[in-house]
Amino acid sequence: MAQTSEVVIVGGGVAGCAAAYFLSLAGVKATIVEREGISSQASGFSAGGLNPLEGSCIPGPLSALAMASFKLHKELWGTLSKETAIDFLSRIVSLTKVAFSEDEVPALQESLNLFEDARLEGFSGEWLHRSEVLKVESRLSEKLIGGVRLFGNATLNSLLYTQALAEAAQRNGATVRPGVARGVRLDNGRVLSVILGDGEIACDQVVLAAGPWSREAEQWLDISVPVDPLKGEILRLELHGPALGGDYNGAGASVYPRADGLVWCGTTEVDEGFNKEPTEAAKEKIWGAARELIPELAHANLIKHTACLRPVTPDYMPIVGRAPGWDNVYLSTGAGKKGILLSTGMGKATADLMTKGVTEVPLEGCEPERFAPSKRSESAAS
Ligand SMILES: Cc1cc2nc3c(=O)[nH]c(=O)nc-3n(C[C@H](O)[C@H](O)[C@H](O)COP(=O)(O)OP(=O)(O)OC[C@H]3O[C@@H](n4cnc5c(N)ncnc54)[C@H](O)[C@@H]3O)c2cc1C
Repeated sequence: MAQTSEVVIVGGGVAGCAAAYFLSLAGVKATIVEREGISSQASGFSAGGLNPLEGSCIPGPLSALAMASFKLHKELWGTLSKETAIDFLSRIVSLTKVAFSEDEVPALQESLNLFEDARLEGFSGEWLHRSEVLKVESRLSEKLIGGVRLFGNATLNSLLYTQALAEAAQRNGATVRPGVARGVRLDNGRVLSVILGDGEIACDQVVLAAGPWSREAEQWLDISVPVDPLKGEILRLELHGPALGGDYNGAGASVYPRADGLVWCGTTEVDEGFNKEPTEAAKEKIWGAARELIPELAHANLIKHTACLRPVTPDYMPIVGRAPGWDNVYLSTGAGKKGILLSTGMGKATADLMTKGVTEVPLEGCEPERFAPSKRSESAAS
C-alpha cells in the first residue's frame, strides 16, 4: 500500500525545511523527500550572510520580503535553537566596505544611506576616512582611500540552521524520507501522490522546493519553473594572528570571519550548468581579490574550498505561491543569492497560503504566474 502524508515537500534544502517547519507550527505534518541529505547542497555551503539591505533587486522589488524575512529570523532564532539544542551560530555583525578609488565612493554612499534610512529596524552606518578605516582593522590594504562601517546585518551557519529547521519540524511530527522524487500522479487538477524512485506517497498537498533542480517539475505538471543553477565558490582560510573584527568588502572581495574561527572568502558567479566541482581558476580569483583587500591573507592556510549552485530565476526574484493551474501544488524556490535570508519569509508564506489561503508576508513580485502560464491553465481558459 502507498505511504501517505498530509504534505509532501520535494527538496530538503533551506526552502523545503523552512516550509516543513512553518507547516509544523500550524499543526500540519509534512514529509520532506530529499535525495542527497538535508542541507547537502547550497543550503549547507552558503556564506550564511543575512543582509537585507543589499543584493540583487535590493533596493527594489525584493526589499520588502528581504526585510520581513530578516525580522522573522530574529524572532525565530531563540525558539529554534532552544527547541533543537542546535547552536547555528547566529549573531549580528558589522560590515566595513572600502573604496580604492573615487569611482567607488557613490556606491558606498548609497549603502550608507540605506543603512541610515533603516535605523528604526536596527541598522546604522558611518563614513570613515582612510585613517579611521585602518584603525578599525590595521591589516586592511594601505591603498584604500576610505570606507563605510555598517551595522545591523547578521550571519549564521546555514548548514546547522537548515538542520535545526528540519529537526524542529520533525519534533512537531514531520518526517524526512530519503528518496528521489521522479514524478506525480495526477487527477483533475490535483496531485494525488508523489512518485519516488522506490515508492509513492499519497498526499493532500505538495511543495516543490528542489532548488536549482526545480525545472524537473516542469514536465510533471506542464508548468513553467524557470530556475537555473548559478555556481558559486568559497574559500575558508586560516589567518594567523587575532581574529578579524567584522565582515569586509572591497577590491572585488568579500571576507567574513566566521564563528568556526576561519575567514570565509567569496565568491564567484559562473554559469557552468550543474557542475559543482571547485576550480583552480575560482580559487585564484577569490584569493587574489582577498589579498588585495587584506594583504596578510596571502600567508593564510587554505582549509576548505567549496562550490555549490544557487537557484536563480530570470528576474532574480524567488517563486512562491500556488502553481498555476493546480489546486494543491505550491512552489517555494528560486531564491538565488539570498535563499538563507529569504527562507523564513518563503517558508512562512508557503505555510500560510497552504493552511489559510492568505499571508501577510509581502510576496509582490514572487508570483509563479509571472512566468509563462502552464499549457494546462491556458487550455482551461480557452
Ligand atoms: C557560494 C554561495 C554563497 C551564498 N551565500 C549566501 C548568503 O550569504 N546569504 C543567503 O541568504 N544566501 C546565500 N546563498 C544562496 C543560498 O545558499 C541558496 O539560495 C539556498 O541555499 C537555496 O536553498 P534551496 O533549498 O532552494 O536549494 P538547495 O539548497 O539546492 O536544496 C534543494 C534540495 O532539493 C533536493 N532535490 C532536488 N531535486 C530533488 C528530487 N527530485 N528528489 C529529491 N530531492 C531533490 C536537492 O538534493 C537539494 O538538497 C549562497 C549561495 C552560494 C552558492
